[in-house]
Amino acid sequence: MTTINNIYCVGRNYRLHAEELGNDVPTSPMIFGKPTHALVETAGQEIALPGNKGEVHYEAELVLHIARQYEAGVTLEQMVDKIALGIDWTLRDVQSELKKKGHPWLLAKGFKNSAVITPFHSFPGTDVLEETYFTLLKNGEPAQRGTIRDVIFDMMTIISFISENFGLQAGDVIYTGTPAGVGPVQDNDRFDLLFGDEKWGSCTARLG
Ligand code: ZN
Repeated sequence: MTTINNIYCVGRNYRLHAEELGNDVPTSPMIFGKPTHALVETAGQEIALPGNKGEVHYEAELVLHIARQYEAGVTLEQMVDKIALGIDWTLRDVQSELKKKGHPWLLAKGFKNSAVITPFHSFPGTDVLEETYFTLLKNGEPAQRGTIRDVIFDMMTIISFISENFGLQAGDVIYTGTPAGVGPVQDNDRFDLLFGDEKWGSCTARLG
């Protein structure tokens, strides 16, 4: 797999998803991170997830691979050289408890294998990206479908926000948020990630 430096993720970037969890729609990008140990590339394999910490939810997301440092005036085409699809597995019950306590989300979002990523594809251009729906199939049935046209904060807003607050360099990736339709994983559920009609990755969830 391509070496990945930092993993940034955007929370609540699709209005309908923020609403389905009863969250406020944010007024500035809501960014969190995952350790690189969380990464696992799809190869049709079984992926081990925590089975004793309450519900694990799937969150399908478009993932940007960053090509260079941000500066004012750069385009998305210059900033992003590759894209992938990913699943931001989330321990939803743990996250609800952490939220109540005002604690960081890391335990709910940063566990091993919590950042699924398909192999990367060349950046197809902003127009194609906006026109193309990505889909998560769960056991062959569509569970989530999204396009970055529907995000609250567009890709360049997220990129400049992350760059300004945390730094952003070649080799970093950004999980850009999940559309509506998240839900709990059952042991042995099969997941396929599609960009348009192309299948980019598959895996089977094993709750251990
Ligand atoms: Zn997410």
